[in-house]
Amino acid sequence: MMGKRKSEAAKQSLIENCLDFISSWKEEWPSFETDSSLEISQEKVLRALQQLFHRIKKSYPFYYPGYAGQMLKPPHLIAILAYFTTLYINSNNHALDGGPATSELEVEVVSWLAEMFGFKRHLGHLTGGGTIANLEALWAARELHPDQGIAFSSQAHYTHQRVCSLLKIPCYVVNVDRKGKMDLNHLEYLLKREKIGTVVATLGTTSFGSLDPLDQIAVMKGKRRIRIHVDAAYGGFYTLLSKGRFPEVNPLPFQAIEQCDSIVVDPHKHGLQPYGCGCVIFTDPAVGKVYQHNSPYTYFTSDKLHLGEISFECSRPGAAAAAFWTTLKCFPLKRTTGLGSILSQCRKAALRFVDLVEKDEVFKMITVPELDIAAYFAVSGKPTASQISKKTNQIFKRAEQNKEFPLYLSKLKVDAQWLKMNFPELVMDKPEATVLRSVLMKPEHFAYIEKIYEVLLKVRKD
Ligand SMILES: *Cc1c(COP(=O)(O)O)cnc(C)c1O
Repeated sequence: MMGKRKSEAAKQSLIENCLDFISSWKEEWPSFETDSSLEISQEKVLRALQQLFHRIKKSYPFYYPGYAGQMLKPPHLIAILAYFTTLYINSNNHALDGGPATSELEVEVVSWLAEMFGFKRHLGHLTGGGTIANLEALWAARELHPDQGIAFSSQAHYTHQRVCSLLKIPCYVVNVDRKGKMDLNHLEYLLKREKIGTVVATLGTTSFGSLDPLDQIAVMKGKRRIRIHVDAAYGGFYTLLSKGRFPEVNPLPFQAIEQCDSIVVDPHKHGLQPYGCGCVIFTDPAVGKVYQHNSPYTYFTSDKLHLGEISFECSRPGAAAAAFWTTLKCFPLKRTTGLGSILSQCRKAALRFVDLVEKDEVFKMITVPELDIAAYFAVSGKPTASQISKKTNQIFKRAEQNKEFPLYLSKLKVDAQWLKMNFPELVMDKPEATVLRSVLMKPEHFAYIEKIYEVLLKVRKD
């Protein structure tokens, strides 16, 4: 208890430190009276906040290790403090007018990411998220390869299809193999038959965390004039674990990133950031020409190329850049310290989970996780798609209701024909089966993986 109180006190003093900075910063200008129209009583504030607390109480506890469901976790305290402080200024990184200081921070963090990916040159910036970042990369791809289509796998994020329809680009869906990775034979076949200008490879699919064979796709780039865009919104930071003599993930696809044309990574997934922080990076700075525009009102203070001239969105939070920058000061992009050691715990949690599942044969893994996402189902009764789904729904509900350690999981629909490739005994009485999925993206998951498995064993019983 003592420890907890101490850490709360430490947090309070950190928040005070941030507020002190804001007050002293404001003292640089003459003081003035806040307009009365903006004033509210303390009582009113407290009442409104109480109402808010009541409303947000029913949120899922994403912070807690028993939450092993979707790709969700709160940002690190350092990100919250930096964001909170910068919010008092509310800088806007659309241009140097709006965010002279935070634009510099953004340029720095993007260069750190580019370096992690092995890019010698780059052009990039933060975005509102992975979807916008991918939209931007595919928009640039369309401008550079007009009248040519885009190919991505059936396991690619659903927004790629949406983006293609928005951009009016024909898209081609490539089959996946039994591990959920892009099927290279099918890709070759499509590249031969169709006019495809860009291939999207996913490093860390949303369902299974699978890695498309980017190293082999990059070989095709040499033979044909295609662009390769890497959607590493989820898996991008795992590049850190692909380095060194003892990589903890398959290094080949990550090493091939430097041969690609663009990449997307989401700091709001594995970069400890709050939502509203994605990133797109191009390897050829000349891509900047597709952004050319003429705005009569936004740019006054500088002749330098600035972020507003190379980004699709206009207003963007300078606080997001500040938060990510400060976080990386504390958790640098290193293999064995900083962010690397956090990811390593998540990776170990997934591997330990596989060990536990394979020992008992009470559950079956759908594929062996390549990152930290586990998809699995309970073996019970007849091996039919409908029985698997029924059991999944039962476990999902009961796990949440487990009193001493509530366990939150997520559900995933998979194509029964595809599932049968891994489990030939499956009876396809339905076109789809619902299975369980756990994103083990918090380092604490490693210490709690036995507990998680114990609850799974308990709640699976009829
Ligand atoms: C999360 C995700 C996206 C979408 O990103 P948002 O930040 O949610 O907009 C795209 N692709 C992949 C692989 C993802 O995991």
